[in-house]
Amino acid sequence: LNPQKPKKIDSSSLKNLNVTEFIGEALVLSEKATIHDGIVEIFTRDSGTIYITNGDLLSGVVSRKDLLKAAIGGMDLTSLPISLIMSRMPNIHFCTTDATLFEAAEIIVKKEIDSLPVVEYSNELKGYKIVGKISKTDLSRVLFETLL
Ligand code: ADP
Repeated sequence: LNPQKPKKIDSSSLKNLNVTEFIGEALVLSEKATIHDGIVEIFTRDSGTIYITNGDLLSGVVSRKDLLKAAIGGMDLTSLPISLIMSRMPNIHFCTTDATLFEAAEIIVKKEIDSLPVVEYSNELKGYKIVGKISKTDLSRVLFETLL
């Protein structure tokens, strides 16, 4: 996942690069976690988006603003499950591991979201397992390494 040392990217190959070369670790919580757990995790893990799972499968997404809305709305943060405030499947935008970086960037730009879960379909579980995420920060890094 996401090597920290900048390495030059060849601009002519950029459009066809596979998304998995650029993904980072996704912050994942269970639907049963509380909203308060989500706030603590997003701070301690320095992340912008939480991916929510039901069993091992992607079921939702919670952003910083979703958490702020819950906090100022007077919800009982320590007892209510985070699933109550998540954006949920089937309305979650994602890409699979065979997508190109370009396809992932297109979804992030057009849907105006901070990051995109990168998933793999599980035939056994009949749903999508989270492999990682691609964020706007990752895309900035690609731009930087292309211009390097
Ligand atoms: P923020 O709200 O912190 O600016 P985003 O722009 O990523 O972060 O999220 C905006 C809204 O879109 C939130 O309500 C969030 O739940 C939802 N959202 C974020 N990522 C996705 C996604 N991949 N698919 C569907 N909805 C998403």
